[in-house]
Amino acid sequence: MNCDLIHDSLDAYFDRELDVLAARDFERHLNHCDACRVTFEHYRNRQRTVRAQLPYFQAPEGLVYKIRAQLRPGERHRDTPGTIAWRAWGVAASLVICLAFGALLFRSAVRSSTTQLLAEQVVSCHIRSLMANHLVDVPSSDQHTVKPWFNGKLDFAPTIKDLSSEGFSLIGGRLDYLDDHPVAALVYKRRQHPINLFLWPSSDSDSKPSALVIRGYHVVHGIQLHVACWAVSDLNSDELKRFVQDFEN
Ligand SMILES: [Zn+2]
Repeated sequence: MNCDLIHDSLDAYFDRELDVLAARDFERHLNHCDACRVTFEHYRNRQRTVRAQLPYFQAPEGLVYKIRAQLRPGERHRDTPGTIAWRAWGVAASLVICLAFGALLFRSAVRSSTTQLLAEQVVSCHIRSLMANHLVDVPSSDQHTVKPWFNGKLDFAPTIKDLSSEGFSLIGGRLDYLDDHPVAALVYKRRQHPINLFLWPSSDSDSKPSALVIRGYHVVHGIQLHVACWAVSDLNSDELKRFVQDFEN
């Protein structure tokens, strides 16, 4: 390589565009030619200065990956940290949704099995009261006689209503035991059908009356103002539901 060629090859050398042999010739010439070495040093210093003065921005990683993917379309695209993060969020969000849905299903299953168990107990209490001929402890059609009878026997004061004008006559009241605590049992009658109405305080939120059939008996239950209300009778479902609605209104 002569001096002119060295001068012409400076850019190519710095841009690593010379092949191995040409680069070796280039360096060998610099080792022996002071003039070219001075030019080379001068050129290198100028390049460093220019680089130091140019504003330099780090390209966002997503952009780098996109450009690489376009330059090498055949190459399988690697996930950018951004996509990986989004994918991780997606998986996490799906998991949270699955867990929440599972918890809802579980709670609803537990609630329905609890309701079923309670309904069984309610029906058993009803049958027991009829079999043992122990329908009432305080036989009275007067709500003002039945209500005070519960004083001191329960940790709440049950509401007692006169529903005789709606066709449900009060027979009396008694104490019973349900859901692991003492409850008020009010006894009403429609025609020849006795109705047991069980009341006790509940921490659950209010719910509208719904009906069940257990061992041939109709059961209607709801929660109003934090009082659980369970009515059971051999009366038909519609009339029993109306009884609970009349009682709650
Ligand atoms: Zn030279």
